[in-house]
Amino acid sequence: MKKILSIILGIAFIASCANADSKKDTANKNIEKIDRVLSMMSERAQKEIKIENKEEFLNDLEVVLAEEKKYNPEDISIYYLIDKKHYAIVGYVPKNLKPLVQNDVYGISRNDLSLRTDVEKELVKLCEAANKEGISIVVSSTYRSYEYQDKLFQKWVRIDGLEQAERESARPGTSQHQLGSAIDFGSVTHDYINTKPGKWLYENAYKYGWSLSFPRGYEDITGYMHECWHYRFIGVPACQMQKKYFNNVQQYLLEFIDFWKKI
Ligand SMILES: [Zn+2]
Repeated sequence: MKKILSIILGIAFIASCANADSKKDTANKNIEKIDRVLSMMSERAQKEIKIENKEEFLNDLEVVLAEEKKYNPEDISIYYLIDKKHYAIVGYVPKNLKPLVQNDVYGISRNDLSLRTDVEKELVKLCEAANKEGISIVVSSTYRSYEYQDKLFQKWVRIDGLEQAERESARPGTSQHQLGSAIDFGSVTHDYINTKPGKWLYENAYKYGWSLSFPRGYEDITGYMHECWHYRFIGVPACQMQKKYFNNVQQYLLEFIDFWKKI
């Protein structure tokens, strides 16, 4: 009897060691994967992204990747990379678009605005927090269809010429607005940052999962000039990661996640 018991215990011990070893293997592979992903990014990104403790980074990344599952699975990921090189899925329209109406929490500047339903809830949280501090937020532009973006881009080409239009407007299929999770706030002009709501968003939006998409001094990275009015919802853990490791540049974070999922 004693012999049988010691054999069983022996097997259990070996099995638990094997399990610990395979966990270690995965951790080691993921640590290597961080370097592989970074090597695929731009030189500037590699200089500015600071990952001192890779294990801690992997833990944070795990939280961020789990977070996206909390949002409507019928729609594409809240981290979906879309820019001048990465297009939206052809014909993509968010499944659950909610028309925005006048309400007590935030203002709207037009009557044809809409957002992903799950993202609109996050807008409410953001604006409730602002209201508590006596700040009123106005939403000026939200979801734009591929066709609308096409018309808008052509309009800017006619007004400013192609080169300038490329800096300030997205070609159809490349706009964060097509995702239904990006918002232009207030005046949609450069002096918005000098207004109370513009300043408040700049200092606080990340606490509610809203990230400034086109920061000052990053036109070579984002493809767009600084837009103090344009925010995209990516969730609170992703905003924290963006600040902690990615020099607070959304493009770096989303590119990293995109490569991480692909390789
Ligand atoms: Zn915008």
